[in-house]
Amino acid sequence: RKELLSALKGKPTATKSGKSIKLYANIGGIGDVGAALMNDAEGIGLFRSEFLYLQNDHYPTEEEQFSAYKSVAEMMGGRKVIIRTLDIGADKKIDYFNLDKEDNPALGYRAVRICLDRPEIFKTQLRALYRASAFGNIAIMVPMIISVWEVQKVKEIMAEIRAELDAQKIPYGKVEFGIMIETPAAVIIADELAKEVDFFSIGTNDLTQYTLAIDRQNAKLDMFYDSHHPAVLKMIQMVIDSAHKEGIWAGICGELGADTTLTEQFVAMGIDELSVSPAMVLPVRERVVGME
Ligand code: PEP
Ligand code: MG
Repeated sequence: RKELLSALKGKPTATKSGKSIKLYANIGGIGDVGAALMNDAEGIGLFRSEFLYLQNDHYPTEEEQFSAYKSVAEMMGGRKVIIRTLDIGADKKIDYFNLDKEDNPALGYRAVRICLDRPEIFKTQLRALYRASAFGNIAIMVPMIISVWEVQKVKEIMAEIRAELDAQKIPYGKVEFGIMIETPAAVIIADELAKEVDFFSIGTNDLTQYTLAIDRQNAKLDMFYDSHHPAVLKMIQMVIDSAHKEGIWAGICGELGADTTLTEQFVAMGIDELSVSPAMVLPVRERVVGME
């Protein structure tokens, strides 16, 4: 079995009739890049930048972040590296953020909400990301979006950062900008959001939680948590269709993307990209390669 999978390294992720998708890996830190490369990931579809914040006892500086993002970009060569901006929440406590205790942390002060409320934190990260983009193929992705307003606000801040770098003659590359679709609100207005961004990446972990009103951390609800719930699958189709109508691409970076019992369905739905844990890259490729 291991040899069978190994034989798929270097092969395109394409069906027999020639329909191909991009197959990327999810990573949580620089330490995972080796596994992504070893399993022949075609890029990084989700780099959870939280680790930089979680492993420190202070806000990671621009230099600390720049050096981490640059390393990953360089290690991946010219391959795309999609870095997700800060996604901590009141449940992921980081002392130096001084977050209040909340009754409903999943519905609370988290992710892009913190970034827009405290732009100084966000700007430091964006500057580091743009600077690192001069050394590889970096894309920026923002989590937990619920409105067009938020996306426009993020774009304004990004434009400010680029203007600042221009004025300082600091180089940066062409950076694709995408958002995670992980709230039902984002799915329903995906047609409007698609006009604002270069790509969508569906976060099925949170999307399932918010759609089914089931806390993803509450083991007591396991019997109700149906990751194949038709509501979630229909939403994925809606997101893909809205993306394609505006000529942008859509992928999945939540756990569901690695569910090989759904690979055929995702490809049939028109998915453009799947981003999965490094160990699942080759099993998913095997599925796609086996399709007609
Ligand atoms: C998701 O919500 O599906 C996702 C990929 O993000 P995270 O699991 O980090 O919330
Ligand atoms: Mg999420």
